[in-house]
Amino acid sequence: MANQENDVILAKLYAPEKPNEKQYERFLNFLSDKYQSEVSLEWIEDKSIEGGFKLYVDEEVYDWTNEGRFLQLKESMGNLNVTSSTSQEDLIPLIKSAVDDFSATANAEEEGRVLTVGDGIVVADGLSSVQYGEIVIFESGVRGMVQDLRTEEIGIILFGDDTDVVTGSRVRRTKKTAGIPVGENFLGRVVDPLGNPIDGMGEIIADGYRPVESPAPGIVERQSVDTPMNTGILSIDSMFPIGRGQRELIIGDRQTGKTAIAIDTILNQKETGVLCIYVAIGQKASSVAQLVGTLKKKGAMGYTIVVAANASETAPIQYIAPYAGAALGEYFMHRGKDVLIVYDDLSKHAIAYRALSLLLERSPGREAYPGDVFYLHSRLLERSARMSDAVGGGSITALPIVETQAGDVSAYIPTNIISITDGQIFLESDLFFAGQRPAVNVGLSVSRVGGAAQTKAMKKAAGSIRLDLAQYREMEIFTQFSSDLDETTKKQLVYGQGLMRLLRQPQNSPFKTHEQVILLVAATAHVMQDVPVDDIHKFRAGLLNYFHEEESELCKRIDGDGVLSDSDKELIIAESEKFKKEYLSQEE
Ligand code: ATP
Ligand code: MG
Repeated sequence: MANQENDVILAKLYAPEKPNEKQYERFLNFLSDKYQSEVSLEWIEDKSIEGGFKLYVDEEVYDWTNEGRFLQLKESMGNLNVTSSTSQEDLIPLIKSAVDDFSATANAEEEGRVLTVGDGIVVADGLSSVQYGEIVIFESGVRGMVQDLRTEEIGIILFGDDTDVVTGSRVRRTKKTAGIPVGENFLGRVVDPLGNPIDGMGEIIADGYRPVESPAPGIVERQSVDTPMNTGILSIDSMFPIGRGQRELIIGDRQTGKTAIAIDTILNQKETGVLCIYVAIGQKASSVAQLVGTLKKKGAMGYTIVVAANASETAPIQYIAPYAGAALGEYFMHRGKDVLIVYDDLSKHAIAYRALSLLLERSPGREAYPGDVFYLHSRLLERSARMSDAVGGGSITALPIVETQAGDVSAYIPTNIISITDGQIFLESDLFFAGQRPAVNVGLSVSRVGGAAQTKAMKKAAGSIRLDLAQYREMEIFTQFSSDLDETTKKQLVYGQGLMRLLRQPQNSPFKTHEQVILLVAATAHVMQDVPVDDIHKFRAGLLNYFHEEESELCKRIDGDGVLSDSDKELIIAESEKFKKEYLSQEE
């Protein structure tokens, strides 16, 4: 620490006036007490110091100036335990006691000096015992996070304007890691990754504070996924079901409906008790505003938090956005709630991290990403979990989104994230442009754990649909050049086309579980065989209407206990046939 060679500590006292003998002695006593060693004290005249002194021992500084004491008071006020339930009357005694308790104790603070600054990155020296991930404060009040530790200097990413940070200015430690305020009041709000509201709806009173980076729950605290997280999208819930606590990647080229699937899933959580967090990374502010508008209009904002690090934000802010979202989610998960987080998207997140790493002069690796880019996303996605009942039984389900270039799933970031998640929903441009929306590629999509979370009714209803579609696709390729097809092949092609058409679904119109079950049972029983393909959507709407009117008991039962008996199945097929007869006779 100090000059250890001859066990004498050299301390420097900056003050406007020379201390008198008594003061001098008090300093010496304080220092030798503190460091258990002999001390020599040197006075350096500094007229710029107001109302006190600064005492430097190596890198540590005891700031007893007006400004320093004010800063300390400000910080202790910031730590006040104020929650949303604190009334104004309670607040005044709280502040009073904080002021009473506050005795600007001679707290040692380490200081460093800014060497270079630019592009949201600061290199500083000093602060030799600072920790990785620690928050530091610059003279201008701007905060930063330590991201790089080297022997002589440290690299800091800035969470504010770098024009206020100048070379040679001082930076001090806080001994705290980066965190975000959390609480119930964040629901319905749009915040930046530091937890500041950006929706113009005023201050958010937090219930607590959570570190942005925190370790993922261990194996003992987890239990397996067994409850469905319905998306309301027929092609996903039937073939690639997602369970609460699962991580399912949504992957595809640009403009293939990736965000649409995530938003539909959020809309479908209405009245299920699932809370939603949408993290927007590197998107246009106008797109995010539009999305928030949709959520509001559909009444989904009440149970949703939007964390936005728009394209105009610096790389460090975009980099911490998903971790901040995860911290907000963990607050609810540890209170036994089910949470859905959408990270839109992790390709842009990786790019922000690459920019930041290159500015920190870390050596680039494959596709110019730094070597630790896998850890970047694995430590994020590992934080989603289904917690065991002993620790509340909450969950975080993650829907990370990744953008591919020309459908290339073998690029660095897609392969990484595919290996970290429990499956992927692969969206294809060709399908999208052919009008097959959502453009789910049935062959390349999988869900590795969701099947366990599917209700019995859904499992029974979905039956062979995936296989049927695979057969149809194969047959379609083989038959596309032949003109004389036999009757069975023709029938199979019509059946497959009907299924594909049935799976088309407009945005913002989720199906309930019983609706999906009815459609799947009817379709796989070839009820829709005689309905012209272009009429399938009209038939679908009519059929569901018919069941709501004629079989409302059955609908309720399927949604309720999630079981579909054989007689129920027969009933659905019989009723669908009956409806079809009416429908076809009316059409003529
Ligand atoms: P980006 O790469 O720009 O983020 P994305 O893959 O997230 O795009 P979206 O923004 O969700 O794609 O959708 C692209 C367009 O397709 C939007 O105009 C959206 O309205 C439309 N779209 C998405 N899903 C459907 C659907 N099921 N039916 C009809 N239109 C859809
Ligand atoms: Mg999108």
